[in-house]
Amino acid sequence: MDAQRKAMADVLRRYKIQDERVIEAMGKVRRHLYIPEEIRGRSDPYGDHPCPIGFGQTISQPFIVAYMTQHLEPKPGLRILEIGTGSGYQAAVLAELGAEVFSIEIVPELADHARTVLAAEGYGGVKVKTGDGYKGWPEHAPFDAIIVTCAPDKIPAALVDQLKDGGRMILPVGTGVQRLTILEKNEDAFREIPDLYVRFVPMVKGPEDKAEKNQDF
Ligand code: SAH
Repeated sequence: MDAQRKAMADVLRRYKIQDERVIEAMGKVRRHLYIPEEIRGRSDPYGDHPCPIGFGQTISQPFIVAYMTQHLEPKPGLRILEIGTGSGYQAAVLAELGAEVFSIEIVPELADHARTVLAAEGYGGVKVKTGDGYKGWPEHAPFDAIIVTCAPDKIPAALVDQLKDGGRMILPVGTGVQRLTILEKNEDAFREIPDLYVRFVPMVKGPEDKAEKNQDF
C-alpha cells in the first residue's frame, strides 16, 4: 500500500496539484483503512477514481480531494468545517495538515465508522457530529474555511453565516452535473467563483421544510 500511495502522489503531481504539503499529507494518510473492511478487498483505494465506502457513498477521486484541499489553504490552527464526513478520509487529510477539523455526517453508521478510524489513525482530535449539514455547527462557528463533499442545489445559507469574515468555502453546487464553487466572504460581501464541473453525491435534505433549507442568502 505504501507503493500505491506513492504512485497516487505522483498522479497528483501529474494533475498539477501545486501545494506539495497537500501531496505530502495525502502521501501519509492511509486511504485504504478508511474504506470499511467489508468492501476493502474489492476496492482499489489509491486508483485515479472515486472509491465506494458503503451506503451508496464514495470518497472522491484523489485529485478532487487534493484540489479542494489546496483551495482551503489549510495550515496549523485553521478551523475547518466539513459537511459529509463519509469515510473520514478528507477529514484526516485536513487534520494531517494541522487544521482543527469539525465534520458532520448524516448517516450514523458512517459517522461511527469515521470516528473509529480517525481515532485509530491518530486523528482523534477531529470532531465528528451525526446530523444534518444544512444546519452547520453553530456551537463551533465561525469557521475559517468550509468544505462540502456532497452537492446541495444551492449554497446553504446557514453555512455562509457560519463562515468567518475573510474565510472561504468550497462546494459542489447543482443537480446532476455540478459546478465546484468557491465562495469568499469579505466584510459581509461575497464573491462566488465557479470552477470545475464535478459529480458528487447529492446533499440529502432532512425531514424538515426543504424550501427553507434552499433559501438564497
Ligand atoms: N468526504 C468524504 C466523502 C463524502 S461522500 C470522505 O472523505 O470519505 C458524501 C457524504 O455526504 C456521504 O457520506 C453522505 O452521507 C453525506 N451527506 C449527504 N447529505 C448530507 C447532509 N445533509 N448532511 C451531512 N452529510 C450529508
